[in-house]
Amino acid sequence: DGRWYMMMVRTGVPGGRLTAEQLLAEIDLSETHGNGTVRATSRQGLQVHGVLKSNIKATIAEINRIKLSTFAACGDVGRNTMCCPEPTDDPVRHAMQRDAESVAKLLRPRTNSYYNVWLRDADDPEAEKIDVTAHHPMNDLPDVPGADRDPGNDAVEPLYGTVYLPRKFKVGFALPEDNCVDVYSQDLGFIAVRDENDPDKLAGYNVLVGGGMGMTPAKKDTFPRLGDRLGFVEPDALLAVTAAVVRVQRDHGERQNRKRARLKYLVHDRGLDWFRERVEEDLGRKLKPPHAADVTDVDDHLGWRKQGVAEDGSTLWYLGLPVPDGRIADFEADDPHGGGQWKSCLRELLTTYGSDVRITPLVGVVLCGFREDEKPAVAAILRKHKCQPAEELSLMRRNSMACVALPTCGLAVTESERVIGQVIHDVETRVAQYGLSGERISIHMTGCPNGCARPYTPDIGLVGKARDKYTLYLGGRVDGTRLGFLYEDMVPLDQIAAVVSPALAYFKQAGRNVGQPGGETFGDFCARVGEEDLKRYAKEMESE
Ligand code: SF4
Repeated sequence: DGRWYMMMVRTGVPGGRLTAEQLLAEIDLSETHGNGTVRATSRQGLQVHGVLKSNIKATIAEINRIKLSTFAACGDVGRNTMCCPEPTDDPVRHAMQRDAESVAKLLRPRTNSYYNVWLRDADDPEAEKIDVTAHHPMNDLPDVPGADRDPGNDAVEPLYGTVYLPRKFKVGFALPEDNCVDVYSQDLGFIAVRDENDPDKLAGYNVLVGGGMGMTPAKKDTFPRLGDRLGFVEPDALLAVTAAVVRVQRDHGERQNRKRARLKYLVHDRGLDWFRERVEEDLGRKLKPPHAADVTDVDDHLGWRKQGVAEDGSTLWYLGLPVPDGRIADFEADDPHGGGQWKSCLRELLTTYGSDVRITPLVGVVLCGFREDEKPAVAAILRKHKCQPAEELSLMRRNSMACVALPTCGLAVTESERVIGQVIHDVETRVAQYGLSGERISIHMTGCPNGCARPYTPDIGLVGKARDKYTLYLGGRVDGTRLGFLYEDMVPLDQIAAVVSPALAYFKQAGRNVGQPGGETFGDFCARVGEEDLKRYAKEMESE
């Protein structure tokens, strides 16, 4: 009768920003209706797993009650809008985070169906009179720019029309010095550009289109892709450009074949110039060429960082917590996640300090607004719950992540979250052996080629291919600006470190200025020498 079917319930959290009460309520919900854990996601959202079908409605109602929502966290619409979550008092970051929120609101579907299905009490005779739109946490929606000129406009959905989008649509906001959202992997990406005369002022955004991670190995015309630089937009035209890009995908995107329905295939097949012309037609004006600013680095937002200045002039701090794989749970000491009573620890910290929360794109949890004199007590709470602070973790652990995969993702063909701890341990052993522990080497791992943990851009990418076997990618960049290349297919789980090992040894021997400031990274080295040379070296090592 379906009562024992269980589901995952995903909350979209634009820019990963939420309150202490909201995160505490999600943790409570996971205990009453889920499997007792909350998962921070690689798109800065939250997932509760193991919710029985009979509890779905109550779960969704509770999420809406705490002014969050599951609405459009799935489906062929704009997904959770990502944004660099850094909470410092940098005015450009603040402006960018406000803009990300506006774009999230623009992309929100306007239909009332969600409320009618999930929030209306069918037994309440008064329910028909409820203004269901008032229930949504993101009211105050902006008008859709250009909707009056759009023949596909619909009274209910002024942006999506009657047809919605061919496929999911992902948007992210980054800064050149901090591409934590992996902006080149988004359907639509924005890189904030500072004013040349006043670095505290936002000049506008470089617009990227056509990024995307997912692929279907059996279909050779599907592939991961980095976005192209479309143009530059001032902040006041941001929503107009967003709406125009969405409409071009809505009207020209592939609708017969879902495997090729993402925006990246439209940009790839028709070309960037064709795409820009369609956007300009929609806007009724030319786009400015992109500004020279581009991604230069990435930040994990972990550890103690200066946040800003309190009203009384004292320094405020934020603390980025490396919750293992974003899984908010109490782990046994021998758990593959590495132990730590993270759920209890977060509960105590959130209840004691009421901190605002930010989820990072690398599935960390940032708590905001601590004073200097609170730091020792916070550190003691971490110690009490055996939670390792970021400062005690290797660079590899801080910069790596895994998708959920087995046992809760229905698309997974391999393990990911439950084994990445072991994989990192094995690879780190080799890294230490070659004296490379000071190198920032990232591993992203997924349980299938959909690529939820963005495995095609880090130094080492692992993509589940068949039972216990992975496709290994090398040569990406930790800052997300280069795709790795396929180095070896069908690598057994327990052989991953052994297959990566010769490449690490070769890097140590032949990398340029390894360990020096500005020296070659592992990913740069692999990309420079290429697959053939790496394999030659591996063969030589084997025969020695
Ligand atoms: Fe995403 Fe695939 Fe991982 Fe599931 S197994 S979370 S679909 S990458």
